[in-house]
Parts: sequence; structure tokens; C-alpha cells
Amino acid sequence: MNRPAVFLDRDGTLIDDVGYPRDPAGVRLVAGAPEALARFRDAGFLLAVVSNQSGVGRGLITPDEMDAVHEAFVRAFADAGVTFDAVEYCVHGPDDGCECRKPSPGMILDIAERLGVDLARSFVVGDKDTDAEAGRRAGCHPIRIDRWDAAAERILADGWDAGPMGCGELVLALRKRMLALPPRAMFRLRATDPAAPEDIPAWCRLTGHSLESVEHPHYLIRRRET
Ligand SMILES: [Mg+2]
Ligand SMILES: [Zn+2]
Repeated sequence: MNRPAVFLDRDGTLIDDVGYPRDPAGVRLVAGAPEALARFRDAGFLLAVVSNQSGVGRGLITPDEMDAVHEAFVRAFADAGVTFDAVEYCVHGPDDGCECRKPSPGMILDIAERLGVDLARSFVVGDKDTDAEAGRRAGCHPIRIDRWDAAAERILADGWDAGPMGCGELVLALRKRMLALPPRAMFRLRATDPAAPEDIPAWCRLTGHSLESVEHPHYLIRRRET
């Protein structure tokens, strides 16, 4: 039977994002990432990394430099007790028309075929909208994060039977932008898609962010009238 996986972005998600990474000495683990990955592993998820490295295609990074950073990355996680089932990089530029560069789902689909992954029970985790979009296109549950403890709770709580989207995911996706706003701002979440999960709280308290209204595939978010 096919297994679920967590597909992970690398730069900005698992290690600090330093732009176009070419120095293995600059590899720094994001706090909480190894612990979260160990929890996913214990819960039966395969662990795969899918990373855009257009610096190679742009001529800013040599393939050897990319390999050296890859080795340092894998070694740092191994030292922290985490090994990956697959790591894939797209080395193309945005104008190359490849099928692997996120938000295209090529790397996810390739790994899923090689490892026998059940995409509908899998998650894609990253720090950018393009990561989430790649997950959506691959048929996985997309999660955009800025805190690993919250991401781990979300994935493990929703488990393998999660609906296509959830309130928790929206909160995580918007949290970073919301931190700038006065606390206790209230937003209403209303499902716009009958297939959306039922377990949405009628009112969801979110802190920060000045959004009045956000379009979303499954939810409408509007500032609460007071
Ligand atoms: Mg990233
Ligand atoms: Zn590519």
C-alpha cells in the first residue's frame, strides 16, 4: 500500500534562506525542523525534499557548489537524527519552461512515483506560496509555515484523512503577514466550496495583518463587522 509523505521545501523552511546558496559553511538548520521531521517519521510519513535552485540555471552557482551545499544539508540533518527518503532539485531558471520548478509539481510527482507515495494523504510544506501551489497541483495538502511546532501539530492532528484545506492551514499561511497588525483583530471565515471541511470555527481569531478580505480556493475571509 502506498505511504503518505511530507514534501519539504529546503531554503527558508529546513535551513536558513541565504539567497543563492553556494557555501556549505552557511548551512544553518531552522529551529525546530529536525524535531518536527522526527515526529512525522514516527507517524509513518516518508520525508522528501523538493528545492528550486535556479542559481545554477542563472549561472550564479556551479553544480559543484550546489552539491557541496546539498552534502552539508544532508549531513546536518543526519547529525540531528533525520535522514530523507528523497531529495530533488530543479536547477532551471524561470524561463526554461521545465516541469520541475515549483510551483510546477514535477519533482513531487516524480518522487511519488519512485517511492510509491499516496499523494492524497501527503503534505507539502514550505515558506512560499509557490511551495503551497506545487502541493495543490500535485494533489497534496499544502501548508505554508513560519513555525515548525505549529506545522507539526497541524499535520499530525489532521493526519491522513484531512480535508482539502483547514482553518489551521489558513492561520499558518497568514500568520507571518498578520503579526504587524494590532492583536485581537477578528476575521470571519466562511466556506465558499461545499467540499471544504466542516470543522471551521465560525469566528477565527487572528492577530495582526490589515487584510479586509482574502480570496482563497475554499474560504472567504472577511474582517468582522463590529
Ligand atoms: Mg523556501
Ligand atoms: Zn526544473
